[in-house]
Amino acid sequence: MPKARSQPRFSLAPVLFKDSAIEGRGVFARRRFEPGDVVVPYAPAQRRLELGSAEADAAAETKLTLVSESAWVIVPDTSVPGGWLCNHSCRPNAAIYSDGEGQIRCLRPIHPGEEVTIFYGWVTFNDPERDPWRCASPRCRGYINFDLTDDDARHCEDDTALGHAFRARFQDYADYLVDIQQEQVLDVIASRLGQLRAQLAASRA
Ligand SMILES: [Zn+2]
Repeated sequence: MPKARSQPRFSLAPVLFKDSAIEGRGVFARRRFEPGDVVVPYAPAQRRLELGSAEADAAAETKLTLVSESAWVIVPDTSVPGGWLCNHSCRPNAAIYSDGEGQIRCLRPIHPGEEVTIFYGWVTFNDPERDPWRCASPRCRGYINFDLTDDDARHCEDDTALGHAFRARFQDYADYLVDIQQEQVLDVIASRLGQLRAQLAASRA
């Protein structure tokens, strides 16, 4: 009787992790993906911290962690490659989903060999140039982050020049986010703006 092969001859993994022309190591498709397909888990090995603990709050502020809708902060084990290696693009072909253990899913058709990119959606406070970036997108923004300043927080709802300038900048960014299917970042901005306003109010009290 022939012996069953215990190991497949070729890896059937749908993605490959290798050096990227964008930055560092990236995630590359080995087959075609269609919108909605799961491309790769965010962190095949991970630690989960319950939201609300000091350790989880500190971890949530770092760049690699993912805050799950199930009330955890997911901390990837970086000795195991996964979706956490996806580079940012100003026009991503995939997106990160924070339900369950976290997944990268396809947004636009991805061809074999193409780098799988996501939109980080970072929102910073008073640090507009924190995350300079150059990607292949013809509409590269030059920075990953969208920055909120104390002036934005003070004037976002009033009738001053600063208020108008903020709302115009926000509207531009909102149109762009809709165009690249990343509207969820608007919720992040609204929540971070609320946080900044609360901080300012507390410092005045
Ligand atoms: Zn870019």
